[in-house]
Amino acid sequence: MKKISDYLHKHILVLGLAKSGLAAAKLLHELGAYVTVNDLKASQDDAAVKELQSLGMKVVTGDHPLTLLTDENMDLVVKNPGIPYSNPLVEAAVEKKIPVITEVELAYKISDAEIIAITGSNGKTTTTTLIYEMLVEGKKNPLIAGNIGKVACEVAQHATSEHIIVMELSSFQLLGTIEFRPSIAILLNIFDAHLDYHGTKEEYVFAKGKIYEHQLASDISIINEDDSEVMSLGKGSKGQKLYFSTLKENKEGTYLKDGSIWYKDEEVIRLEEIVLPGEHNVENILAAITAVKLKGVSNKAIHKVLTTFPGVKHRLQFVAEVEGRRFYNDSKATNILATSKALSAFKNPTILLAGGLDRGNEFDDLLPYLSHVKAVILFGETAKKLERIARESGIEVIKFVDNVEQAVYTAYEVSEKQDVILLSPACASWDQYKTFEQRGDIFIQAVHKLN
Ligand code: ADP
Repeated sequence: MKKISDYLHKHILVLGLAKSGLAAAKLLHELGAYVTVNDLKASQDDAAVKELQSLGMKVVTGDHPLTLLTDENMDLVVKNPGIPYSNPLVEAAVEKKIPVITEVELAYKISDAEIIAITGSNGKTTTTTLIYEMLVEGKKNPLIAGNIGKVACEVAQHATSEHIIVMELSSFQLLGTIEFRPSIAILLNIFDAHLDYHGTKEEYVFAKGKIYEHQLASDISIINEDDSEVMSLGKGSKGQKLYFSTLKENKEGTYLKDGSIWYKDEEVIRLEEIVLPGEHNVENILAAITAVKLKGVSNKAIHKVLTTFPGVKHRLQFVAEVEGRRFYNDSKATNILATSKALSAFKNPTILLAGGLDRGNEFDDLLPYLSHVKAVILFGETAKKLERIARESGIEVIKFVDNVEQAVYTAYEVSEKQDVILLSPACASWDQYKTFEQRGDIFIQAVHKLN
């Protein structure tokens, strides 16, 4: 870790005491800052609060008093990425021209390791994991960090110049960066806009664009050539540009030709050898290959990962083959778009396990993707709504069950060899399960019980 003096004797307010707030506060304290931590929900009895207090930090809980900015003339605010800019303390800080950052900026400033940063509306976790796995296979000492669940500034503290940090970043995290400059930056795509947080689409796009903003000629910007918004953000980068595309054979990057993936003029792998299903995942793979080729990972190592990597847990994850039936867990598919992507990934007769929290929407947008679905097994609040769509699509086998476990057994009963059995609920899990992870874990356990 670089022992920087940027924060020495500075008055810094850490806003939000989740995992990342705790790590940021401790780091800043170690770097000689006067740290105050503020959290609305935490209580003075919490272990984290006590820990920070015992180190000499002030922790204010239960309120966001505006006086926190003025009492000590704050020099900087480090906010949890989830706290919106409409928060009164953040608004007041912006008005007073006090810089507001996320801990990602701290991670960058102290890191001895180079950073490969990945963002996009969809595919971040998959691409980050693929890059990490390929770098592991290529013996390049990677560390995984960021939005994927490992606090970036904590990982950066333990990284040396021998490491490469592979960092997944959300738009919320990126918006709170000032100098952040990854040596390799990847912007996968821009779809949704998180309007509830960002207010306007422009601001969302601006946040995503920050991944390239401070790159210099010695850095690399990896750009999705098939996404016009990514292309226009990429154009502004001062970094060296490399492209990936599923549509164009661009020899300045990674592309498809004759059923294979190519990097510049090298054939890397045949598409049919890749275990990870789904056309959207081909895009993620192209981006990942571009990054790791730059770090000198061999085609053999890339091949090894792509012929074995079953997908990130709960995201179109291959679980097992039982008597010729292939089971996939896509519990993360909590909306129609994600389920339509999952359905498009298969040509074989498919049994779809779906249903969950009713958010009041209809499911007609699934209709174009159901032609190869031979049966649906439905559960949760939306079961009846999904039944209507299944009937409209002419699906003959429609079963209602109480939960995901039963759905697995019922699906198996009505299945034949060569079928795909896919949990892709198109709904959030909260009507029956705590999280989509819990729902997916129950699916996995039930599948393993079949064996
Ligand atoms: P994120 O971390 O950005 O949420 P994930 O890798 O967890 O992305 O994938 C979440 C879902 O997003 C997947 O289940 C799939 O439905 C969709 N998805 C993944 N990659 C892409 C892509 N490149 N383009 C479009 N949709 C994608």
